Amino acid sequence: MADRLPGAYTELLETQDRLERHYADMQDLEFTVERGKLFLLQTRSGKRTAAAAVQIACDMVKEGLIDRTEAVRRVPPADLDQLLHPIIDPSVRAKPLCLGLPASPGAASGIAVFDPDSAVERAANGEAVILVRDETTPEDFHGIVAARAVLTARGGMTSHAAVVARGMGKCAIVGCKDIEVEVTHRRFAVNGTHVHEGEWLTLDGATGRVFAGNLPTIPSEVVQVTNGTLSRSQAPLYQSYSELLEWADDCRRLKVRANADTPRDARVARAFGAEGIGLCRTEHMFFEGDRITPMREMIVARDEGGRRRALAKLMPMQRSDFEGIFEAMNGLPVTIRLLDPPLHEFLPHGGEESKLLARTLGLPRDELSRIVEGLRENNPMLGHRGCRLGITFPEITEMQGRAIFEAAVRAMRRGIEVKPEIMVPLVSTVAEFENQRSILESAAEQVLGVMGESVSYMIGTMIELPRAALTADEIARSAEFFSFGTNDLTQTTYGLSRDDAGRFLPSYVDRGIFADDPFQVLDAQGVGRLIRIAVEDGRRVRPDIKLGICGEHGGETRSIAFCHNIGLDYVSCSPFRVPIARLAAAHAALNAS
Ligand code: PEP
Ligand code: MG
Repeated sequence: MADRLPGAYTELLETQDRLERHYADMQDLEFTVERGKLFLLQTRSGKRTAAAAVQIACDMVKEGLIDRTEAVRRVPPADLDQLLHPIIDPSVRAKPLCLGLPASPGAASGIAVFDPDSAVERAANGEAVILVRDETTPEDFHGIVAARAVLTARGGMTSHAAVVARGMGKCAIVGCKDIEVEVTHRRFAVNGTHVHEGEWLTLDGATGRVFAGNLPTIPSEVVQVTNGTLSRSQAPLYQSYSELLEWADDCRRLKVRANADTPRDARVARAFGAEGIGLCRTEHMFFEGDRITPMREMIVARDEGGRRRALAKLMPMQRSDFEGIFEAMNGLPVTIRLLDPPLHEFLPHGGEESKLLARTLGLPRDELSRIVEGLRENNPMLGHRGCRLGITFPEITEMQGRAIFEAAVRAMRRGIEVKPEIMVPLVSTVAEFENQRSILESAAEQVLGVMGESVSYMIGTMIELPRAALTADEIARSAEFFSFGTNDLTQTTYGLSRDDAGRFLPSYVDRGIFADDPFQVLDAQGVGRLIRIAVEDGRRVRPDIKLGICGEHGGETRSIAFCHNIGLDYVSCSPFRVPIARLAAAHAALNAS
């Protein structure tokens, strides 16, 4: 054009420059040239990928076209997800096999495997594997660790597979209702065809699309720098991303913490900018390796003596993990939640696991089966979990309290600044909270007395049941902080099982009955009303009460805006969502001002 229509070309460049200055944004122009005369047909802000949005926003600040605040506004927080995970090469066109819930973003290819042991074995042989299950339980944990991604037929956005994979920053698609997993045949059926073990699949966890075959993926530059495999100087996109997030940090009021259960996750979270741990789910510490066996021993113990023996095995594991987390978070607060295992997630599911447990406990198999049967609950999510466990078996809370305070002292003696916040789960009455608080205070007195040290700590509670929200004034007299567990609060407010709702919620959303899946986007009207009541009543009784959220909503943009608007102190989310939450918190503050 410069050669053939030099006049129109120069005019086009000038006009484009003028328009981009006027709109202070990259323009997508439509034009025509007729008999040498330039006609501009349309101009609009150009669509862009997240990488381009970040780059353009930073460039425009450098060129003096916009200020830093405007640059922060220009990047949609949820789009950052594209920068934090591998993506399917956008030039590839493929038709998905089926669609599930986008439980944990990222793209991954691998061969389908149908049990966790095969996942570990084949991954050890250098194969990329995708673990396909009906749904996952803690018994699958080693398989999830070994796999590149997880695909389940059942489960919702807060199911085991979803929460565990999100915590690891691993791609997962759950509740994929078009697939039928046939474990015995080592295959799954989908829309009239079968995918067998060893066949390639590619998952796009950001959209929930499952593809047949090995589609090319592109790794995340940001993650490579964050985990130390690429240097900052070789990563121009990372440099812009981190600059933009620093500007966002200057705009926000909400703090951003992470949900992390192990020292490794805590380190990842800090590298992404977490300002503390908002939720350490202590039962998740027992998913790894052979740790699940003493955990099961504790659950099936027939008396206090048996339980104490199992707890004595669990105690050093917890203590060393807590110490590692305090170290990773040196100087920042760490909220440790007492055990809250929905028992069904930990009970052996027959076969090898039962055999091993029976052998460890020196019990005949049928006796163990009787005990396990006796523990089965019709509604485990509403059953013997949370503080109910520590109330009926106080030795559990006592062991956890000791492990936390011993870890705190050990870390302190190594020069680490510790800020433990101990959190009691699933409280519905103040009496439950006070029962647990007094066990923890005795553990503190005993441990710190013997070790001759003092540690400043806080004891607070999750608000995750409607009754707790409605009686928050009473609870706040005793609790130093509240953290809203919006996964359970959503489950119990709607009366919707968080594990099963994924089967039909998408059709509710399709029909417009629900505007959004309430497990993904906080229901400001109903669940939010309960939260507001608890915030107001809690603050009235204890003006300096610390308030946060640690349900999965803590990493979702609109829910973060709600948290900002009602004046929470922090949001807590999985490590890989921390950057998104930092930017979303900045947007919330800018939109409110
Ligand atoms: C919650 O209920 O929101 C929560 C954070 O706890 P969990 O998901 O472990 O039940
Ligand atoms: Mg909960």
